Amino acid sequence: MSNSNLVTKWWPANQTNYNWGREGKKIQGIVVHHGATTSLDSIGSTFARANRNGSAHYGVGGSQVHQYVDEANTTWHCTNWYGNTRTVSIETTNSTAAPDWEIAPDTFETLVKLVADIAKRNNLGRLWINPKADMPVLSGHKDWYGASTVCPGPSLYPRLQEIADRANAINFPPVVEVKPVVAWIDISPLELKAKEKIDIIDLDTGADKGDIQAGMVISNLVQETTMNGKKYYRTLYSKTKGFNNGILAEALEPMVAPVSPDS
Ligand SMILES: [Zn+2]
Repeated sequence: MSNSNLVTKWWPANQTNYNWGREGKKIQGIVVHHGATTSLDSIGSTFARANRNGSAHYGVGGSQVHQYVDEANTTWHCTNWYGNTRTVSIETTNSTAAPDWEIAPDTFETLVKLVADIAKRNNLGRLWINPKADMPVLSGHKDWYGASTVCPGPSLYPRLQEIADRANAINFPPVVEVKPVVAWIDISPLELKAKEKIDIIDLDTGADKGDIQAGMVISNLVQETTMNGKKYYRTLYSKTKGFNNGILAEALEPMVAPVSPDS
């Protein structure tokens, strides 16, 4: 278990407000709360007082991330002991008071980054939400059995899926396929004959672009390239069209020079 590198300030909670350890339970989820306050500092000062009967691991506001309790310990936050021992809790500072409890855009961005970081370090995989699940990977306080609250509020709660999607995009960026660039080299034009039936191959995709029948003469072979150790030619037509269609060189042979009637 570790803590977030995004933390800008440690503000230790009073030890009467949380439990040491997690009763051997592994972190399996993240619970989002709203602070019901527009002041991030007021969250830290509340948890620092003895006998508050509540705590969270983190608080976010603007670009700031405060930490109150080590992730290795159990915070008292979702009114459900099963949830408390298995989750990391985040308090989110509001930008407006009741009843809307709005969240400022920069606070939301910081929350997304912190959620992604917690998920990654604790190997939570792709985040998903489901208020009916026993152990949702991402949840709001009010999703928990026993909780009677609007927390994380009417502005933040409907955005849990967006938080999950954004955090997943950070932790599992789409794989960009880098295609090898086919490097064609100009040669003096060749005219060669197919020794056998040859497939014309799109060297970008490996797709079969057509056949050349045995004995056919291919003229205007103006470029060559090497792919996977094999040499391919490209015709003037493919070059002009920008097609990466290659013809396997070893399947071609020189034209037999016409026999001179004098010899
Ligand atoms: Zn809450």
